[in-house]
Amino acid sequence: MLPIVLPACRSGQAPPVLQPRSGPRPTPHGGSTVRVQIGVNGAARVVALDLEEYVRRTVGAEIVVSTADAAWAERIYEAQAMVARTYALANLGRHADEGFDLCSTTHCQVLPHTPRPTRWDDVIAAAVDATQGLVLTYDGRPIRALFHAHCGGHTSDADVIWPGTPLPYLRGVRDPFCLRERPAHWTFHIAAATLARALDGSPGTRVDGRLDGFQVVERDEAGRVLMVALTGARNDVMRGEELRSAIMRAEGPASLQSPRYTVRRDGDTFVFEGEGFGHGAGLCQTGMVGRIKAGHTPSDVLTYYFQGARLVSLDRLTS
Ligand SMILES: [Zn+2]
Ligand SMILES: [Zn+2]
Repeated sequence: MLPIVLPACRSGQAPPVLQPRSGPRPTPHGGSTVRVQIGVNGAARVVALDLEEYVRRTVGAEIVVSTADAAWAERIYEAQAMVARTYALANLGRHADEGFDLCSTTHCQVLPHTPRPTRWDDVIAAAVDATQGLVLTYDGRPIRALFHAHCGGHTSDADVIWPGTPLPYLRGVRDPFCLRERPAHWTFHIAAATLARALDGSPGTRVDGRLDGFQVVERDEAGRVLMVALTGARNDVMRGEELRSAIMRAEGPASLQSPRYTVRRDGDTFVFEGEGFGHGAGLCQTGMVGRIKAGHTPSDVLTYYFQGARLVSLDRLTS
């Protein structure tokens, strides 16, 4: 059976900046406007969207509720809306050098280039309205509301996956709900030569054309790969997420789908077997769905994954 929920793939999300920001409060352009780049390359354009409109558009792209879960759809979208709003505010100006705030890919949050009507539009609109202005905060500022599709049973400390200042609300938590919701096992086969080519495609992961061995040398408590030793034309120890990003860039989002994997060599092929989808920090979307279906409120769900964070109305933050 198909997964009950098909969150948009967060696996390719770029490393976040984990240093707490001490800059201005959330709305640097005045009002709650988000400048978003829609489209890529020659077709790219920047549009200024009201924050709530931005949230409405991204929520439907970042999580798709299955018809079977219609009874919980509004609460699921309420939770995602609060995460989306918080993420947008915490990341305003992320692309300031390029003349906009957020892009519309998994690097920031996905926004459809051409919105098309879906069966959930009214539900999403109601969920965004019901949570209007609500954001997750820590120390009076919007948090880095990272999220991913499926943690495989345990999230990880964000600063372990990407080195940086530890953020108290981005600590690993146990999560049996996603596993109950749907399985998260995957296998990825790749020829050694293809893998070498993929790694040579990124400057930080070069193997100079030949890869003989790929060995995990360090994991975090949740089992996510932190460091990998490579042998071949050159021998090197590299950070797991850097390698995973390089492989995903070359082989697509269905390749190394999470940092929680084992790897073995089978002849000329490397075989990766893993659990979960996405980086594993912050909110687990599948676990969030499972919790809401079990009767947890959106607020309880969010403060479970972002421990110590508080939901606050934006009015109170900016006043
Ligand atoms: Zn971006
Ligand atoms: Zn989970």
